[in-house]
Amino acid sequence: MNLLFKRPRGTQDVLPKDSYKWQFIEKKLLETATKYGFKEIRVPTFEHSDLFCRSVGDTSDIVEKEMYVFEDKSSRLITLRPEGTAGVVRAALENNLLSEALPAKLSYILSCFRYEKPESGRLREFHQFGVELFGSSSPQADYEVIEMAVEMLNNIYINNFILNINSIGCSNCREKYKQALINYMTLNKNSLCELCKDRLEKNPLRILDCKEKSCQYIVKDAPVILDFLCQDCKDHFENLKQYLDKSRINYIVNPKIVRGLDYYTKTVFEFVININGSDLTVCGGGRYDNLVSDLGGPSTPAFGFGMGLERLILILDNLDNLDNLKLKDNKCDIYIITLDEKSRIFAIDISKKLRSQGYIVETDLLGRSLKAQMKYANKISAKNTLVIGENEILAGKASLKNMETSEVTEFIF
Ligand code: ATP
Ligand code: MG
Repeated sequence: MNLLFKRPRGTQDVLPKDSYKWQFIEKKLLETATKYGFKEIRVPTFEHSDLFCRSVGDTSDIVEKEMYVFEDKSSRLITLRPEGTAGVVRAALENNLLSEALPAKLSYILSCFRYEKPESGRLREFHQFGVELFGSSSPQADYEVIEMAVEMLNNIYINNFILNINSIGCSNCREKYKQALINYMTLNKNSLCELCKDRLEKNPLRILDCKEKSCQYIVKDAPVILDFLCQDCKDHFENLKQYLDKSRINYIVNPKIVRGLDYYTKTVFEFVININGSDLTVCGGGRYDNLVSDLGGPSTPAFGFGMGLERLILILDNLDNLDNLKLKDNKCDIYIITLDEKSRIFAIDISKKLRSQGYIVETDLLGRSLKAQMKYANKISAKNTLVIGENEILAGKASLKNMETSEVTEFIF
């Protein structure tokens, strides 16, 4: 086939044979969020570029290398959102959501755009489910949002995850840690990759997140932030751990988790799943107590996370028992076969009535023969067929045939 167009690299089509998985996941995630008091917000796909530079961070990989930035026809600098939090914070401020009842709890499903190297589980357009909770600085808020993430994963049959938690402190303790890290990394500078040599100057914490083998080797013995936390940050982290312990939520304290976005403070966490031998982060988030005020709003502590929907689908696809889970029931309940023009018109009313009762109903739209209609009903795996002709209209009833068992019952119009 000589196609005129192909989809751009790093994008994906979700086909009808797979869309039921998306519908299932999205419905479950939103439903679970609702149970915790979160309400959905929808924000624009693009924002002023400055919003992301100021929030995600000028020296983050996302802003430095991955953003889709363009100038619009009025020379405004616009960016396709690379993540959800910044736009949601902007919308919450612009619409005064943070001057109403706090905590404010928002959830969303949105597309994100990052110019990354496409590989397994990594796309240039991907989708996130996310939540943001504004107005609580309590570790109980951290706990409840993490518990909700566990609940969400369980509700979509994902159980084999490992929860990694860490604290990256506040602006006070982080400065001291940063200095210790710079001292250590400077001693090992020659073994760092070129990018990390640069990071050492601009954003040393990022080195901990580097995926290069040589850097990971150096990172192994680097000072850890947990040893530098101030009393307040230490207490916060201990309290969170107590809540998790009490609820028997298993976790690993992983001091190497720093996250790819600059706005985090105190708690950060990731849910990681090993799939075919490699680790995939399906959910990442944490506390960001300064972002709202950094963007010009009132001082408002906040906590949130993002889940990658494509990665959740990937894991769902790898479940051994996917077919037994019965996630879909979108097959045609009743395929109405019509024999002439009169029965076609009659079938319109019957279809309407059955659809209003909740059934999935289809009928012939091509004027096909009885045999061809039967064949089509089989192809779409219709559960039942109902044949309507002149005799049936006169009799006021027709035969409803169960396509699986071939059992026939009387259907009265
Ligand atoms: P990673 O370490 O895998 O690059 P990240 O730290 O960049 O992830 P976040 O910005 O926290 O990820 O985004 C939250 C979630 O969105 C991730 O945990 C992941 O599931 C998903 N995600 C991030 N980038 C991509 C991508 N390029 N393609 C598909 N999913 C992604
Ligand atoms: Mg990334």
